[in-house]
Amino acid sequence: MREIDWTALRDDLTARKTAAIDDLPALVERFTEEAEAVGAKVYRAADAAEANRIVAAICRAKKAKLVVKSKSMATEEIGLTEHLEKQGVRAIETDLGEWIIQLAHERPSHLIAPAIHKTREEVAQLFAKVVGHPVPDDTASLVAVARAELRQYFLNADIGITGGNALIAETGTLLLVTNEGNADLATSVPPVHIAVVGIEKIVPTLDDAMAIVKLLARSGTGQKITTYTQLITGPSRSADIELKTQIGVHGPKELHFVLLDNGRSAMREDPAFRDALRCIRCGACSNVCPSYQVVGGHVFGHVYTGAIGLVVSPWHHGTDSVAYEQGMCLGCNACDTVCPVSIPLASLITEVRAKAVERIGLSLPKRLLLKQWSAPDAIDRVAGWLAMLQGPFRHDGLVRVPFGAIAKEKSLPAISERPLHFRAREVTQTNPSSPATRVALFPSCLVDRLIPEAGYAAARVLQALGAEVHVVEGRRCCGLPQLNSGERATAVAMAKDAITALERVRADRIVIPSSSCAITITQDYARLLAGDDEWRERALGLAERITPFTRFAAELARERAIRGRPLG
Ligand code: SF4
Repeated sequence: MREIDWTALRDDLTARKTAAIDDLPALVERFTEEAEAVGAKVYRAADAAEANRIVAAICRAKKAKLVVKSKSMATEEIGLTEHLEKQGVRAIETDLGEWIIQLAHERPSHLIAPAIHKTREEVAQLFAKVVGHPVPDDTASLVAVARAELRQYFLNADIGITGGNALIAETGTLLLVTNEGNADLATSVPPVHIAVVGIEKIVPTLDDAMAIVKLLARSGTGQKITTYTQLITGPSRSADIELKTQIGVHGPKELHFVLLDNGRSAMREDPAFRDALRCIRCGACSNVCPSYQVVGGHVFGHVYTGAIGLVVSPWHHGTDSVAYEQGMCLGCNACDTVCPVSIPLASLITEVRAKAVERIGLSLPKRLLLKQWSAPDAIDRVAGWLAMLQGPFRHDGLVRVPFGAIAKEKSLPAISERPLHFRAREVTQTNPSSPATRVALFPSCLVDRLIPEAGYAAARVLQALGAEVHVVEGRRCCGLPQLNSGERATAVAMAKDAITALERVRADRIVIPSSSCAITITQDYARLLAGDDEWRERALGLAERITPFTRFAAELARERAIRGRPLG
């Protein structure tokens, strides 16, 4: 990434994809016209069943018995392989990872590395069954088996089926990127090529498609570019003999596009989830997800795995598809930071969670605790009880619960009997006599009750940087626990209370020593209150005054050329 300006490329691609989604109906028309003008056939499938029917009908018309498939999440989404098998058409996956999981009768565990959960020993056992004798488990031998076995399928296939990384409307072109070269074989050896592609993959121009190429491999695998980048415009053709165009010289005579909707138009109508249509399926959000790293894609997600899987699955596979899986998101926001098209994944997952909670509810103890943890007095009361109850289990500032799976490996920070807001006057008394700026420190319930020393230290650092600091006493919690638990109504009420309280604070900046709390107020409030213009404006106004502690301290030190002074 060092040789590129990732942020600039990300902003550029985000803007291009946003514009494409805005203009999607017109782009579908334009792509259809241009693709048909160069000899392709274009079909539109409203849902998975229709897409499967279209592909099966083409197979029937061509009397196809064997098809080779290049890796395609869209065909996974519609269950195409299973559908074709039921119609008596043998479908062979030719991407190495996809072939491995096809042999294992599993589904992909990662968007771009479908067999990442398999060891080479397991792959060797699968391949041994294919060739009928033991196979060495070194990767070179395994790849040699795949090459030899899959080659015969390429040569004998009646049809090649692919997905698409982008569709270019101005030329009716399909963009495919792979590392193995199997898509090149699947799209050039068989006499017919079918591409099943989600409509959100359509972009206006070749330039837009190249903006995707610049970030797709970089985000997914860390490569500058994948090994193969194909642009396919119409079926194979030549005019080498007397300038008479002939179709199907070396490659397919027929090219069919199945443009798949399957919930995408409905997503486009939703002001929040519309952003998710920008996804270029790079898999980066899985790579950085701590939950995904522990449990893998078969648990974390549905057909689409990882953070984006939690977001799009309800639209393609129904609300219940990730009703429980959404609970694995920790709300750490790591996915947001790496997404090359700036999809607010963490926020969208909380939306999915709110819908899931509406359907399946929360346990009674959790509901009661969240309700109590919504007003300052009640929080103080509950925290006081917990501080008393933790006594027997407390040791060195930590609490180790004596039961349950968590007890084996985790200690929880003890609830402090002396929260930060108890020390508000103490902080005020140590303010510098001629301050450079006035800061309100909103401690958040986490810092206030679990790590008040960190909040106090943050106040002292800001004072050392020349700021007058006052601890905000009227509010305890921003509502993140409720938001993250799907208790939307309580979260909305808490957001409004917090906005009202923090608007009254007289300070140049409001600093929050908890980044998740800062993100909730600066990003989630406006989205949470999107249906109410006045509150949304107030949320945005407040967001401008809020700064996470670390960033503000660094800014302050830089702007004022302050190197700090020893704390007294
Ligand atoms: S949501 Fe973003 S990071 Fe995740 S797969 Fe899509 S483009 Fe990549």
